[in-house]
Amino acid sequence: MQSTSLRTRLLSLLLLIVGWPQTILADTPPATTTIDVLVVYPRPAEQHLSMLISWGRNFGETEMDAFLTTDFAHVTQIYQRSGIEVAFNVIHHEAIDLSYIDAANWKVTLSSALMNSENQLPAHLPYLEAIENLRNLHGADIVIYWREHGDGGPSSNGAGSIGGGDDEAYVQLTYGGVNPPITAHEIGHLLGGQHSDGVQGSASFSIAGDTPTLREYRTVMTIAVPLGLDAYRYLWRFSANGATVVGDHDCSPLSGSLETCSFAAAVGVGDPSHDAVSVLSATAVTVAAFRDAPPPEDLPVFGGTGLMLLILLLTGLGAHSLVPRLRS
Ligand SMILES: [Zn+2]
Repeated sequence: MQSTSLRTRLLSLLLLIVGWPQTILADTPPATTTIDVLVVYPRPAEQHLSMLISWGRNFGETEMDAFLTTDFAHVTQIYQRSGIEVAFNVIHHEAIDLSYIDAANWKVTLSSALMNSENQLPAHLPYLEAIENLRNLHGADIVIYWREHGDGGPSSNGAGSIGGGDDEAYVQLTYGGVNPPITAHEIGHLLGGQHSDGVQGSASFSIAGDTPTLREYRTVMTIAVPLGLDAYRYLWRFSANGATVVGDHDCSPLSGSLETCSFAAAVGVGDPSHDAVSVLSATAVTVAAFRDAPPPEDLPVFGGTGLMLLILLLTGLGAHSLVPRLRS
């Protein structure tokens, strides 16, 4: 009788130890979906950032880490203000040098490899392997290659897929393409967004407090022939069915600096056939699960091996020695 009781108590103790973290997790409200981003660039950080600083597009940040943090905070803001519950976290950034693969052409070929990963071309495999090794090391859901200015590669920014899988979750950005609406646009492709999901409209609005003028406005996914009005601006918003904007809003030329666009009357930024928010919201959770972040080093992890060790330890201690502790 007593041994049954001891076994029950021992089992309870084990369940308490092993089950405790899960109980805590179950009581915690679900966090905002986080997509971890690895950013790689082909030159030392200080050198790579310097031209952006000279252009005044560095948000006042002069260190790479602070710049990327601020830049992606803006990207997150574009998504969240549009109603998409996702946050982008630069989990790691690094200057890479793949000249060991091809000293003359690696910077250009890397763009090509990331844009065509689904083809698994033999010439691209060493590039994809190098990028995947870094991605796995840091648990990044998506990878962004922020290119050197005038590297001879594609003139446009690009995403590896429209709503593709884990093995196509790559973006290549031209040097100026690191700005928030372009970055939000290219990541939007990875999340399934298409140019036709965006809104292209016209309304009278002012830019940075100038005289309100009939102008073209666009949402982030829109790429289209301009309507031919005065200067057009990208609102830092995704289209959403039934959404409108009125008053002051963040806006810019596609690759330009942040401005304020002011609308005296509400304008539409979405309808049932122009609704990027519903598409992006539906896929954000999937993309956020492409890679698990490495566990924090200071937290105990009860994996299968750890659990076996715990059982052996408790067995070695002997059930009797546990009794006084259980009763105290
Ligand atoms: Zn596009």
